Amino acid sequence: MFDFYQVSDLLSPEEREVQRAARRFLEAEALPHIAKWWEEAEFPTHLIRRFGEMGFLGPSLPTEYGGLGASAATYGVVSYELERIDSGLRSFCSVQSSLVMYPIWAYGSEEQKRFYLPKLARGELVGCFGLTEADGGSDPDSNMKTRARRDGDDYVLSGSKMWITNGNLAHIAIIWAKDEEGEVRGFIVPTDSKGFRANKIHHKASLRASVTSELVLEEVRVPKSALLPGVKGLKGPLSCLTQARFGIAWGALGALEAVYTEALEFAKSRSTFGAPIARRQLVQEKLVRMAADHTKGLLLAWRLAQLKDQGKLKPAQVSLAKRDNVRAALNGARAAREILGGSGITLEYHSIRHMLNLETVDTYEGTHDIHTLILGRELTGENALGESSKPKEAALR
Ligand SMILES: Cc1cc2nc3c(=O)[nH]c(=O)nc-3n(C[C@H](O)[C@H](O)[C@H](O)COP(=O)(O)OP(=O)(O)OC[C@H]3O[C@@H](n4cnc5c(N)ncnc54)[C@H](O)[C@@H]3O)c2cc1C
Repeated sequence: MFDFYQVSDLLSPEEREVQRAARRFLEAEALPHIAKWWEEAEFPTHLIRRFGEMGFLGPSLPTEYGGLGASAATYGVVSYELERIDSGLRSFCSVQSSLVMYPIWAYGSEEQKRFYLPKLARGELVGCFGLTEADGGSDPDSNMKTRARRDGDDYVLSGSKMWITNGNLAHIAIIWAKDEEGEVRGFIVPTDSKGFRANKIHHKASLRASVTSELVLEEVRVPKSALLPGVKGLKGPLSCLTQARFGIAWGALGALEAVYTEALEFAKSRSTFGAPIARRQLVQEKLVRMAADHTKGLLLAWRLAQLKDQGKLKPAQVSLAKRDNVRAALNGARAAREILGGSGITLEYHSIRHMLNLETVDTYEGTHDIHTLILGRELTGENALGESSKPKEAALR
């Protein structure tokens, strides 16, 4: 790892070993092929079981449910290594771990946990998380039209979800819908249920090595045992997003390392006007900015992991790390692309792929601006998100 302040020394030997093993595995199995997968808009489904074997799926969950019982920093370094290859690979694992396994573990019945979690940890089952709808993801409460109607011992779900990662790969979907009292509830919906459809979204110029879908639910009937019994209200999905954003704060730095290293190597070997461009002040300024942002971001991510393990993590602290680390990585990828000159626009190099991926990462799981407003509210006590936001639940996306 590029590690200017020796943050690795702050990790445990086990965490360092997980990171080394993840890097070895991903450099062998994914790095040589990622540009092709991205260009052909293909997710490497053959790696899903391997991710399970490597412990990439739900590592922080207890071993009795198939996890590793690992620390927050373990989840962090796995996210880092995945996104060093591609944000699409990290997105797959983030969704499976934080947005599917976490809500089942945190809010599911014992029966749901025992049935689903080990299979999800092994990659035998794939899940997706359906919260966003077409009318505006930043305000999922006001914009949620998906409804769950009680009918005898069943619930009947109707509505649609937009921009759902893993939608067409998933065996189960965690669907957030409003019940007859207007409360947001979570359901585990098998994707082969009658009336359930996933439509793949094509023509993406970002996160191409990842499957993104629209989900349509037309009177989908599930038994009441499909309800996640342990949570009501928007805090259910928002608590899952806090878990996922924690991983993104680490993951984005993996992408930043990838583009920084590529730009540095290029700058040392590329000569103009009789000297390597690495000798030019303008180029050095860009490299220094990338290295400084990476260093500060890694310290932030590491401290966040400590707070998470100690149970002291506040959602606003995660907002800051997600917001700043992703924007730093995006700016770094743009600078790296620039240093590479014309070569930087081809997929033979990695920077433009990371740059385009990071446009999504900057937007999903709470846009940069929404996190700015969450932090503004935290600091001032004034809510600038808008009037329709419920004061307590408006730690929106
Ligand atoms: C590739 C991809 C994968 C995704 N995967 C998933 C998934 O698996 N599951 C899921 O549920 N969702 C997923 N999403 C959805 C994602 O979380 C939303 O796109 C995101 O929350 C933003 O919502 P929106 O696109 O509807 O934009 P909007 O909410 O319509 O926002 C549009 C713009 O308005 C700004 N804005 C909104 N409100 C305010 C305000 N109050 N003040 C100032 N500015 C504001 C935003 O910052 C943004 O710039 C994914 C999205 C993408 C692109």
